[in-house]
Amino acid sequence: MRHLVILGGGTGGTMMANKLAPVLDEHEWQITIVDSTDKHYYQPGFLFVPFGMYRLREIVKPRSQFLPEGVKVVIAGVDHIDTDKNAVFLGDNSVLKYDYLIVATGADIHPEQTEGLMDEEWGKSKFDFYTPHGADRLGKFLKGWQGGKLVVNIAEMPIKCPVAPLEFLFLADAYFTERGMRDKVDLHLVTPLSGAFTKPKASEILGDFLERKKITVTPDFGLGRVDSKERKIIAWDDTEVGYDLLVSIPTNMGDACIERSGLGNELNFLATDKETLLAEGHENIFVLGDATNLPSSKAGSVVHFQSEILLENFLEHVDKRPMPARFDGHTNCFIESGFGKGLLIDFNYKTEPLPGEFPLPGVGPFTLLGESSINHYGKLMFRWVYWNLLLRGLELPIGSAMSMAGKRA
Ligand SMILES: Cc1cc2nc3c(=O)[nH]c(=O)nc-3n(C[C@H](O)[C@H](O)[C@H](O)COP(=O)(O)OP(=O)(O)OC[C@H]3O[C@@H](n4cnc5c(N)ncnc54)[C@H](O)[C@@H]3O)c2cc1C
Repeated sequence: MRHLVILGGGTGGTMMANKLAPVLDEHEWQITIVDSTDKHYYQPGFLFVPFGMYRLREIVKPRSQFLPEGVKVVIAGVDHIDTDKNAVFLGDNSVLKYDYLIVATGADIHPEQTEGLMDEEWGKSKFDFYTPHGADRLGKFLKGWQGGKLVVNIAEMPIKCPVAPLEFLFLADAYFTERGMRDKVDLHLVTPLSGAFTKPKASEILGDFLERKKITVTPDFGLGRVDSKERKIIAWDDTEVGYDLLVSIPTNMGDACIERSGLGNELNFLATDKETLLAEGHENIFVLGDATNLPSSKAGSVVHFQSEILLENFLEHVDKRPMPARFDGHTNCFIESGFGKGLLIDFNYKTEPLPGEFPLPGVGPFTLLGESSINHYGKLMFRWVYWNLLLRGLELPIGSAMSMAGKRA
């Protein structure tokens, strides 16, 4: 038997198990998937929880429900990988030997990385919405909040879903307007980027949106520390921004098991070949999703496109044939803009998000970098697509390679 071990049963790990189980010969291959919990959260849903649009129980399901028969599921924490021994050491001291490994351990927030962020005010005047508990607690707080200066701060890049902080502000604008108290709330984005987004055209268009919605942007702000008593965030260059309510997107990092294995960079992200998805320097380890150090966005859509590339490459590589597929950095993201509308961006390593129609030129139905109700419904539909198609490894009508059809340069 050959052993394939998949680390992480989130978006990427689950998709890979579902794609590989039907095509690998069960008499030749044993697939094992490891995750520390049996709870699978639909993470894009965290955005809607603070505004009462989703409840936590509506965005969580048992992980095992999405894993195919014949795949061995191990619920345990990964302590570390020993690449010399081709072995994964689990928290309960058991060991899994592998011939091939797929790492899909994702990324998580680390507020403890910033001085003064995680103190007794965490959960009182400072919140996150990147975790189920954080999003839920912030929702309860917002219900009774009387207004003031709400600052959304990105501690440092990269973060999961880089548009989520903007979406949070757009939804906050709509939420407080609908509650008749928008004039009592001062909305701010404080970001280490030089504008609203990582790419110039999208940054300009999204920057206009923020301005129109009276959301102030402080760019180029490298967070150094937080002063909870004075309620201010302080940059490395001593620039200060005060707040009444801080919604933080803390430092995002890969899992500590990557660091313990000596495989990560300073943020525990794993060096990955940007086209083949093979771990750099390791011929029997593939990586996908948020765990990689790739310059593509950390987003579910990216994981989906990568899973198609990884499938093709894995099947050839294990039989010592050249890998045929190349990941082009394709990313596709709906952006909620509030009041039942949304935008869509579609880009890759080489092409920045451009305006136009998607997926069909002149027809759409989705609008690229333009606001529409259809885009909003696309975003809401994504939850159904996630549970029913994406995780199950089924084909979607959008190819893993980005297309220029419908885009206007
Ligand atoms: C607020 C928010 C909004 C988002 N919105 C969007 C969106 O609109 N569109 C979009 O495409 N994407 C969005 N995303 C991003 C998307 O959810 C992630 O990019 C995607 O889930 C990453 O998949 P992954 O498999 O790499 O990691 P995950 O799905 O996070 O899976 C990692 C798994 O590894 C497990 N694990 C980690 N370490 C260990 C260990 N040591 N031992 C055992 N198990 C371990 C974890 O328990 C987890 O189950 C959003 C994310 C957030 C937080």
